[in-house]
Amino acid sequence: MDRIFSGIQPTGDLHIGNWLGAVRNWVALQDRYDCIYCVVDLHAVTLPYEASQLAARTRDVAIGLMAAGIDPDRAILFVQSMVPEHAELNWLFTTVAPLGELERMTQFKDKTEKLESIPAGILCYPILQAADILLYRANRVPVGEDQLQHLELTREIARRWNNAYAPEDRYFPEPEGMITEAKRIRGLDGQAKMSKSLGNTIGLLDPPDEIWEKLRPAPTDPARVTRKDPGNPEICNIFALHKYFSSPETVAEVDLKCRTAGWGCLDCKRRLADAMIATLAPIRERAMELKQDPAAVDGVLAQGAERARTIARATLREAKQRMGFFGVS
Ligand code: SF4
Repeated sequence: MDRIFSGIQPTGDLHIGNWLGAVRNWVALQDRYDCIYCVVDLHAVTLPYEASQLAARTRDVAIGLMAAGIDPDRAILFVQSMVPEHAELNWLFTTVAPLGELERMTQFKDKTEKLESIPAGILCYPILQAADILLYRANRVPVGEDQLQHLELTREIARRWNNAYAPEDRYFPEPEGMITEAKRIRGLDGQAKMSKSLGNTIGLLDPPDEIWEKLRPAPTDPARVTRKDPGNPEICNIFALHKYFSSPETVAEVDLKCRTAGWGCLDCKRRLADAMIATLAPIRERAMELKQDPAAVDGVLAQGAERARTIARATLREAKQRMGFFGVS
């Protein structure tokens, strides 16, 4: 069976952009692949962060994943820093990773644009990603379009390492990207990608009144100045969200009533809020239960780390053996 690896940063509670863009897909993949999912806390410390909140945010993301349907019996779910082999393979890969390509990564440029002093961790972030994936010799990686460049670098690192140390059996696979269907979820501002740092999110676990409070002021088609002005749903982010949360009949109704000024934007948003609240209710309920028992969640993550380490140790031993290290049996 093909193996999948994917990771998510420990940003605290997940938002609907995470869910639609990645997590929902991860849940579906559990039935078809050997899936390994990771909360990538080592990546999170490459940019300034609150150390006192890191552990809690890590647990909260894990809770969000489990509440959304990641099942520790069908997939391995763990925290990256609990498997030290990630950092060790990362180091081995720094010896073959091409510096010029690291410097050309779009995300590196974006993240460092305004920095006076650039931590090397930001530059080396894609090497750690390569280590994350290849430590499990995963051959498929669900990614958003913005991650394709990093995945190509993972393939390049695997190629270079294989050329140097495993020319015959090509020990590390060159993983294929699986582009998720919900490619880019725009934030409530309707402009940028939904992102916690931009404050334009709806939390996966937000209570119903909070969902409504966030949706109510969200921008719509500016042509709809008054209730009588018709609009174009195709340029409205509320309509885009309806497509994810409402039935096809409702989506058709929204389309018609928007174009014919058959209702106001607030009516349209109320209908979206109701659909969203109903869709997310079971996830929220399950998360509340999990939050009642953090020790049980930590136990699941410890077990996941143990399972991950069994694979990780074996891969690292093979890699070090081929690189000729002393004392590797
Ligand atoms: S009616 Fe709905 S789809 Fe049309 S502009 Fe208003 S919120 Fe957007």
